[in-house]
Amino acid sequence: MTLSKSQYIRGLQCHKSLWLYKNRPELRSPIDAQTQSLFKSGDSVGELAKELFPDGTEIAFTPDDFQGMITKTKELIERGQEVIYEATFSQNGIFAMADILVKNGSSWDMYEVKSSTHVKEYHTNDASIQWFALSSVINLNRAFIVHINNRYVREKSLDVHGLFTIVDVTDVVKENQSLIPKKLDAIEKMLKRQMPVVDIGAHCHDPFRCDFYEHCHAHIPYPSIFNLYWLRADKKYALYQQGIVHYKDLPKEQNLTKTQSIQIETFNRQKPYIDKGIIKTFLNDISYPINFFDFETFQNAIPRFENQRSYEQIPFQYSLHILHEDGELQHKEFLADEQQDPREALIKHMLADITPKGSIIAYNKGFEMGVIRRLAEFSPESASSLLALNERFIDLIVPFRNLGYYHPNFHGSFSLKSVLPALFPNDKELDYKALDIQDGGMAMDTFANLHLLKDKNQREKIRADLLAYCKLDTLAMVRIWEKLRKEVKSLPKQPILLS
Ligand code: SF4
Repeated sequence: MTLSKSQYIRGLQCHKSLWLYKNRPELRSPIDAQTQSLFKSGDSVGELAKELFPDGTEIAFTPDDFQGMITKTKELIERGQEVIYEATFSQNGIFAMADILVKNGSSWDMYEVKSSTHVKEYHTNDASIQWFALSSVINLNRAFIVHINNRYVREKSLDVHGLFTIVDVTDVVKENQSLIPKKLDAIEKMLKRQMPVVDIGAHCHDPFRCDFYEHCHAHIPYPSIFNLYWLRADKKYALYQQGIVHYKDLPKEQNLTKTQSIQIETFNRQKPYIDKGIIKTFLNDISYPINFFDFETFQNAIPRFENQRSYEQIPFQYSLHILHEDGELQHKEFLADEQQDPREALIKHMLADITPKGSIIAYNKGFEMGVIRRLAEFSPESASSLLALNERFIDLIVPFRNLGYYHPNFHGSFSLKSVLPALFPNDKELDYKALDIQDGGMAMDTFANLHLLKDKNQREKIRADLLAYCKLDTLAMVRIWEKLRKEVKSLPKQPILLS
């Protein structure tokens, strides 16, 4: 048996996952665009980290000739090469490629590069299995994890030494060595047998959401106790282990929060729960002209622009619907030039577009306010105007989260993408599925890569898609606000389940 490093890590998460991967790979869920984008970002980070140890020689990845990669690595070591990237070994049943190997006297230091911002347990497991394979071929001195320093702020040029943090994990890697043969032995025996029986559990999410998740959870109905609001995954799986899956299975003595009780009650009766008092209190705080506002942002592990922090949310677009007291609804928007730092132009337009008075409504205002705070740090000359905006924000999620309005089709989520289709199920104007860009993650990845696209027509089409997506976010808020107003006018004061 020979396992790649990632197959070993998969086996540590779940034997069944590894068995399925080897025997039924067609059952994996397709890789989504966001995961693909994460992989791409990981590749760029790995590439850049090589600059920490320059003048190395890279073993080119040749998937149809692993033996050639192993032979080339051996040759470089024998020739006295000091730095090797992607050094490849197949030893002790493990096929491993070390990101960076650096000669240190008569032995070698091993560096594993990760695009996360701290060392996680699976990183040390990863380094441990690498060490296990390499240590029988070469003398190893220390093992390090190289990860992104999320406090790094780029100056004019990129400083790779500031961008990366190097953590010595040798002690834990050495401690793990004695456990590995037993784990490999168990994996080897498991792979020779029928598919192991492993029930779903918290391990399906830890350290990654398993790519057989949909396959293994296919027997779970929707909705189920897995949709209960604000319940930790381990508690949901504990209920599942007791045979509790449907809401009706929950025992009477089960401690439920008010939101969970209303969630179940509205589902059973298929009628919304409305508390007019809560909605009214919320609406009373809003003043005209009402600015319905939403940012789109992107993040880079490797900052592109001066004064950009690693993984900082950089706003590149906003949509703004302004509702005036006389009923006039205006729309304004901004989408940055993808080739430039968007922040200065965005600040200028935003300060001109948002009305000097009146409320600013966002959905989950903490995000918008956080982005504005960072913009104020970026642009001290606009800081006071920017921070003054934060005084005027009102959060449209509040009447839902505070149970002013609970619809059975929220299914335990108050996100805009859950609330909107529940309130307006057949409204084509408010249907994200009709758009090419359907969520914030897609918008983020699309814009982050737009500057790399050569075709002008394609870029224009994508820019139009981005504008349409962000516009819908704020139009959705307008319609939700109108709906809440209507409910307040038409309902009696007491909380009710609508008949
Ligand atoms: S979904 Fe869970 S049980 Fe199924 S293979 Fe993945 S980790 Fe194992």
